[in-house]
Amino acid sequence: MTSTSTTDSTVVVVGAGPTGLLLAGDLAAAGVPVTLVEKRAPGISNLSRAMVVHARTLEQLDARGLADELEAKGEPLADLRLFDRLALDLTQLRSRFRHILVLPQYEVERVLERRAVEAGVRFAYETEVAGLTQDADGVTLELRGPGTGGGPGTLRAAYVVGADGLRSGVRAAVGLPFPGRSVIRSLVLADVRLAEPPESLITVHADGDAFAFIAPFADGYHRVIGWDRSRNVPDSEPLALDEVKGIVRQALGRDFGMHDARWMSRFHSDERQAPAYRVGRVFLAGDAAHVHSPAGGQGMNTGLQDAANLSWKLARAVQGRAPDGLLDTYEAERHPVGRTVLRSSGGLVRLAMAKRPWTRAARTALAA
Ligand SMILES: Cc1cc2nc3c(=O)[nH]c(=O)nc-3n(C[C@H](O)[C@H](O)[C@H](O)COP(=O)(O)OP(=O)(O)OC[C@H]3O[C@@H](n4cnc5c(N)ncnc54)[C@H](O)[C@@H]3O)c2cc1C
Repeated sequence: MTSTSTTDSTVVVVGAGPTGLLLAGDLAAAGVPVTLVEKRAPGISNLSRAMVVHARTLEQLDARGLADELEAKGEPLADLRLFDRLALDLTQLRSRFRHILVLPQYEVERVLERRAVEAGVRFAYETEVAGLTQDADGVTLELRGPGTGGGPGTLRAAYVVGADGLRSGVRAAVGLPFPGRSVIRSLVLADVRLAEPPESLITVHADGDAFAFIAPFADGYHRVIGWDRSRNVPDSEPLALDEVKGIVRQALGRDFGMHDARWMSRFHSDERQAPAYRVGRVFLAGDAAHVHSPAGGQGMNTGLQDAANLSWKLARAVQGRAPDGLLDTYEAERHPVGRTVLRSSGGLVRLAMAKRPWTRAARTALAA
């Protein structure tokens, strides 16, 4: 195999998910030469995962001139009703954005990708980071895939950020574990059309062993997530729409005339957090650093807020304008936030699926 050497960049960001796109865009906008290495081919899938943008994230996107465009594409939701009784009035938030924005992750990624391109980020698609080593002056990344021109390649950077998701190779390469556990197995997900959509924008309910969540996309499809606690099926098992309908009927009493599924998947939910977000010149952000249940819609939001915290600090450090220790404040500030999100989203799931009378009573009390 031939060996290719890719032009060096001051910062290499691994992973063009929402976290990596925001981070790379911020660095380029601050004048830092940055390469974004992504193993998949260019193009953003419309099989969205996240579908909620929180007020704090909107504020951070607003500071970059990106919020209004997203607001125009999404559905604001200020009055949240969960489990019939749990009501959240977001109009009380002290923010320009007194709501959450229901918007698929791919719309956020599209806006962030365009902004990163405009800011001058170098994209290396179809290029996978296979390993890395660091010394006192920088980090050398080993690359492979069609994007390197056929053979393996290397890339040298002053700093590397692993925004490469749940199975982060960057995290493994710096020897960090990802302790935690799977909290919910056998979740089902379907993006479908509904003959009779529910009246409220977001519908969440649990009954007996079944839990269901329904929310609309702007294009006429709805996201349905279901869980039947009594079924333990591996993620690889084929999924039929009838199974999703059955779980939703159990949880909500009807299936809303679900049809035309464009995407169906089984998934499970882990609660894990890396013990450190920095090892020398290598940082972790987003799902590479923490994962948790989708309850509360926090994953993408926490990753974007990691990126917003780290980007200006890295830019100052590479430009020689940072006091000693500024880079360490990233982990000091963001690791506790990740831990809190893990706990709160896990708590929400346990409360949602409360089975014992006393936990149900606690849920009712909390709702009141
Ligand atoms: C069903 C579901 C619903 C969810 N709902 C919400 C929600 O409502 N709100 C919310 O905030 N979050 C939600 N999330 C979580 C959210 O989708 C993730 O937290 C978010 O995608 C994390 O973004 P990221 O950029 O950190 O990682 P990712 O989006 O996983 O991106 C990582 C990128 O790195 C690339 N990559 C991986 N390894 C390498 C490598 N070695 N070399 C090069 N590239 C590599 C991958 O191809 C990928 O593009 C949900 C998740 C699921 C599964």
